[in-house]
Amino acid sequence: MSAAQFDRIALIGIGLIGSSIARGVREKGLAKDIVISTRSLETLKRAEELQLGDHYTPSAAEAVKDADLVIVSVPVGASESVAKQIAAHLKPGAIVTDVGSTKASVIAQMAPHLPSHVHFIPGHPLAGTEKSGPDAGFADLFKGRWCIFTPLPDTDPKALARLVAFWEALGSKTDQMEPEHHDKVLAIVSHLPHIIAYNIVGTADDLAAVTESEVIKYSASGFRDFTRLAASDPTMWRDICLHNKDAILEMLARFSEDLASLQRSIRWGEGDKLFELFSRTRTVRRSIIDAGQDVDVPDFGRHSLDKKA
Ligand code: NAP
Repeated sequence: MSAAQFDRIALIGIGLIGSSIARGVREKGLAKDIVISTRSLETLKRAEELQLGDHYTPSAAEAVKDADLVIVSVPVGASESVAKQIAAHLKPGAIVTDVGSTKASVIAQMAPHLPSHVHFIPGHPLAGTEKSGPDAGFADLFKGRWCIFTPLPDTDPKALARLVAFWEALGSKTDQMEPEHHDKVLAIVSHLPHIIAYNIVGTADDLAAVTESEVIKYSASGFRDFTRLAASDPTMWRDICLHNKDAILEMLARFSEDLASLQRSIRWGEGDKLFELFSRTRTVRRSIIDAGQDVDVPDFGRHSLDKKA
């Protein structure tokens, strides 16, 4: 157990990410006091049942009073509303951060409202699952995963160092980049794969009338790997699409061009081209495993299913 890094942490939003932070903070002893706030009484009650914090309130303004660290974990489209609610109640010197999957938009929504006497340091842990809500979180979610910070030009280096130390104590590896660069990188590594998954599962669902239950029955041939991504939270992904529009549209344009070229190779029987592409992509998979971002076991992540069988 590490020593407490903060006296009081306020968690605004207690879904998958917020509750994973709460569990990690508790397990590692990173705060003396955890205050939890979420807009619905139902989620707040569940957080209390799960004993994720020490104090619970539906008022974000109330929650941030006296907090040294405030972590906003709500869908990115709700960032401005939360910033407006908490702004007047923040303790001078507090660190305010977020976990949103897009950064330029979150900064544009929050920065204008936050007082100059707090340190606003946007962040994004690249860790998640397709589940949501306070039951879905777990303390190890961030272990070995990257957390990217997009500090503003006037960010205090000491406050940034404290926040970096906090995420590293939760098990993350940390990095920093410009918000616009973050949004481009995430558009290709996260947003595009999810959009493709939503699209392919949607197409298969539209074809369901033709194939009836065969889509489900034979899904282990590849389809089910897309369904995991396409089961991600609709609110979160609607907001990501709306708030990283430019970078996503740029990546989708590239993707469509490459898909057209692949289509052409199939049409014209260009086996060498297909083989070259499929060999290159295999190497990418190897690099991901070598970088510790996945494990090299067949059908990874399906052990519980195997046990049931
Ligand atoms: P989640 O499990 O769905 O939880 C969302 C939380 O935000 C809940 O406490 C919910 O409150 C609250 N909320 C929802 N809409 C709100 C609104 N309009 N105003 C204020 N609060 C609202 O979501 P999550 O997966 O933890 O995601 C939270 C943030 O983390 C998002 O910005 C997402 O982009 C980012 N993120 C997610 C992942 C991932 O894989 N899931 C990974 C990295 C970053 P109630 O339940 O009380 O309504």
